[in-house]
Amino acid sequence: MQVFQRIHDQLLAKGTVDPRQVHTPLALPSRELLCLVHSAEYVDAFLGGSLDEQRLRRIGFGAAAATQTLINRTLAEVAGTLLTAELALEHGLACNTAGGTHHAFRDTGSGFCILNDLAVTAELLLRQGRAQRVLILDLDVHQGDGTAAIFAGRRDVFTLSVHAASNFPARKQASHLDIGLPDGCADDQYLSTVAEALTGVLQTFRPDLVLYDAGVDPHIDDELGRLAVTNEGLRRRELLVLDTCVGSGVPVAGYVGGGYASDLAVLAGRHCWLHRAAAQLWHDRL
Ligand SMILES: [Zn+2]
Repeated sequence: MQVFQRIHDQLLAKGTVDPRQVHTPLALPSRELLCLVHSAEYVDAFLGGSLDEQRLRRIGFGAAAATQTLINRTLAEVAGTLLTAELALEHGLACNTAGGTHHAFRDTGSGFCILNDLAVTAELLLRQGRAQRVLILDLDVHQGDGTAAIFAGRRDVFTLSVHAASNFPARKQASHLDIGLPDGCADDQYLSTVAEALTGVLQTFRPDLVLYDAGVDPHIDDELGRLAVTNEGLRRRELLVLDTCVGSGVPVAGYVGGGYASDLAVLAGRHCWLHRAAAQLWHDRL
């Protein structure tokens, strides 16, 4: 969790972000909001700190998932993800310093994800009529299985996941479009795959909002990755995704997603490519 604070601090320390550009959610999400995509039984067990052993094991945080600290942090993440999407709708582009908990299903968390912040956000904005078609672009190295399952069969949400085919989760769900990459996939193949998939979906699905899970675990040095994307590859990816969306006139909200390295400063630096690309585009285009 400390990496999220590091990202925030690095962005301000290096002048990538002006303090006036930093927004903080004013309130935590209500139970009703979470129940838009999660079952009431799961939400109540989570909020009450009474998740059963099986779910705690699957989530991976152990008993910590039932502590008020982690409950509040998880709720704050959902609030931040929603606020980021609202800011993107208002300004065309916004990025969170957390978010992208894509392994959370309707009835359970999984893989260090408790609530599916992307799904809650998409569902709320659709129901409010503030978006008609939402693309959830998931470039974390792990398939966005929870998001895919929540929105299976939906015509107003398109889930696109580009991931390492051999990586977690072992049992994949069916996204609207899944692209499983081979181990060791490097910059050129990776970036051309992302570019082709994103361009195609923007043209055919015509979303009016993109929620972008920018996990940095495709990085060559990531401890859980299996792909071979370099720092330069990540830099190019973030510019490619944000520029393609903004250039197509589609608001885009970026989320941190996964990333695994023992040196948190190095890891935060990888995540900051998203915000650096956003800052550059903001300066050049918006
Ligand atoms: Zn991941």
